[in-house]
Amino acid sequence: MRIDIVSIFPMLVRTVGDFGVARIALERSILELNFWDPRDYCEDNYRRVDDRPYGGGPGMVMQAPPLAAAIRDARQAGQGRVIGLSPQGRPLDQATVERLAAESALVLLAGRYEGIDQRLLDAEVDEELSIGDYVVAGGELPAMVLIEALVRFLPGVLGNEESAKTDSFSAGLLDWPHYTRPEKFEGKKVPQTLLGGNHNEIRRWRLRQALGQTWLRRPDLLEKRQLSEEESLLLDEFKEQLKGQETS
Ligand code: SAM
Repeated sequence: MRIDIVSIFPMLVRTVGDFGVARIALERSILELNFWDPRDYCEDNYRRVDDRPYGGGPGMVMQAPPLAAAIRDARQAGQGRVIGLSPQGRPLDQATVERLAAESALVLLAGRYEGIDQRLLDAEVDEELSIGDYVVAGGELPAMVLIEALVRFLPGVLGNEESAKTDSFSAGLLDWPHYTRPEKFEGKKVPQTLLGGNHNEIRRWRLRQALGQTWLRRPDLLEKRQLSEEESLLLDEFKEQLKGQETS
């Protein structure tokens, strides 16, 4: 996958490729990152990309011309759809990540200051995405969040191809709890089922836990999801077990 990033802080976004799964993806040439700095498209010697807002008020606004020139070059080089990172965009979720990971190229646009001239957004941006209902200082960290999330879905990056598919949200549920050695930690044992080696029992235990944790922590996810007969049964069992623990 090719990702072209339009940002006035390319060095910041570049660090996403120095660690973990993104680094592996770059090393295996599964991912390619390219950077386009709008300052390189400025006509003045000060390389200014911002100016005061029409109508007055605080802060500065990113100007359309250098951004448009950078985006057009990025789009021409990679042929990707342009994703604008913005707190006003649609909240990023796992389904969107999976959809975008299937694209061969994307252009990510990171804003700064009070935001970007609306005419640029209207003309050049195909989709706006937000990383949550809060505001950070620039689109670089949101772009890095999106890149890490995308990379997990690129074939050949994760050790186990199934890993991203069993993560929280992929099946509309939170992940189940994980355990590893030692078998006993500060008096607490690993659940017996996980030590038993019965694959069907382990699968049912994990699904029961995933359903239960989702019911406890994110009931909104369950409201959006139709449960199978087995899932309804396992969730009932989880609730019963919880009631048992509370009364014992
Ligand atoms: N005035 C804007 C508003 O209230 O909607 C916020 C501008 S913010 C300080 C500057 C840039 O940071 C934005 O153009 C965007 O690229 C990025 N940004 C900030 N919060 C974000 C979020 N939650 N998701 C995605 N991008 C964000």
